[in-house]
Amino acid sequence: MENTQSNILHEEAQHHIVGGVNSPSRAYKGVGGGTPVYMQRGAGPYFYDEDNNKYIDYLAAYGPIVTGHAHPHITAAIKDQAEKGVLFGTPTALENTFAKMLKEAIPSLEKVRFVNSGTEAVMTTIRVARAYTNREKIIKFAGCYHGHSDIVLVQAGSGPSTLGNPDSAGVTKGTASEVITVPFNDIQAYKEALKVWGDEVACVLVEPIVGNFGIVEPHPGFLEEVNRLTHANGSLVIYDEVITAFRFTYGSAQQLYHIEPDLTALGKVIGGGLPIGAYGGRVDIMEQVAPLGPAYQAGTMAGNPLSMRAGIACLEVLQQKGIYEEMDRLGKRLEDGIITSANNYKMDVTVNRLKGALTVYFTNKQVRNYTEAAATDTQKFGEFFHLMLEQGINLAPSKYEAWFLTITHTDKEIDNTLKAVDYAFKKMSR
Ligand code: PLP
Repeated sequence: MENTQSNILHEEAQHHIVGGVNSPSRAYKGVGGGTPVYMQRGAGPYFYDEDNNKYIDYLAAYGPIVTGHAHPHITAAIKDQAEKGVLFGTPTALENTFAKMLKEAIPSLEKVRFVNSGTEAVMTTIRVARAYTNREKIIKFAGCYHGHSDIVLVQAGSGPSTLGNPDSAGVTKGTASEVITVPFNDIQAYKEALKVWGDEVACVLVEPIVGNFGIVEPHPGFLEEVNRLTHANGSLVIYDEVITAFRFTYGSAQQLYHIEPDLTALGKVIGGGLPIGAYGGRVDIMEQVAPLGPAYQAGTMAGNPLSMRAGIACLEVLQQKGIYEEMDRLGKRLEDGIITSANNYKMDVTVNRLKGALTVYFTNKQVRNYTEAAATDTQKFGEFFHLMLEQGINLAPSKYEAWFLTITHTDKEIDNTLKAVDYAFKKMSR
């Protein structure tokens, strides 16, 4: 496969854009290096790069593109709105329409606010929880990514009840000292953290289905226990559903598991591919937000008509009957095919899958938390990633990410992907 144009563009990009990329995960650091492929257009489940090579896409732009690239209904909505104006700085009827759609799909959202990214959404839920509880500390789960605001760029200390360390230069020790990190799926560690920090804890931040060290589901009863213990402690439960909302079902993980948090952060899919975030929850908590309450949050671009139209159109597409069941069926075919090839070539592979999202880990062990995900074979994943890319299969360039199906993938793409997987495993097992 020729990648001349990507090489030229990446060389040029290094001179103008820091690291040549506008988000670090787009560089190929996690897969042993290489030049990122520069895409020029997408159509359904396919991408075409600047050399006109065609790829089956499982990146889905890190989640948002669940309807496939350039879905005609969403594209028409964006074009129509672009002709009417993209930004007014006033309220619009579109915001009401979209807020009502989200509330119907996710009933715990008694009141919502639109922002511009998942980062903003999560950051603000934390501020609102602190305002409501008048407490400062937060608990998060190790390895979960919640955007790049200072407070969530903090990793575990040396034990479940120690405070965190900054995970990035520029995050102060003071900020890190407000964050307690515990392992996911470990209710004992969570209990211990609450016992130690108890009445200082404003909230716990939960990815109800983890998407950021691969797809990891909560153990049965884990989310319920977190809810119960948190509320007993007078703290709030925040669900970060930036990846999970409208990915696995029409609605969120809350509908899958029949459980409700106090506040929810949204992003990715709900923008139909345009920049968006939203947060919402219990009305008495949301009324902490300005102009009603003392917690400030604002945004020039918030609720912009273009993102609203794209989001409404995206949810309209996702209301079609049977689409999530079909992504589940295709996801199961992928999982089964990957495992069959792995067994044929005696490769140690574990697949974590939930419906149309899965992660392929190079290990013979289960992966239930960040430590177990981190212990999987990074070098093998890098080799696999490049072998798949050469065959026109575009995966996320990190062992910690998911493969995302879209409603435009069909048996044909799965068959071709499984052929490529088989070839890659065969080469790797030699
Ligand atoms: N929360 C989760 C679970 C995410 O996966 C991400 C992004 O990957 C974010 C928050 C941040 O969203 P954004 O990149 O839109 O700021």
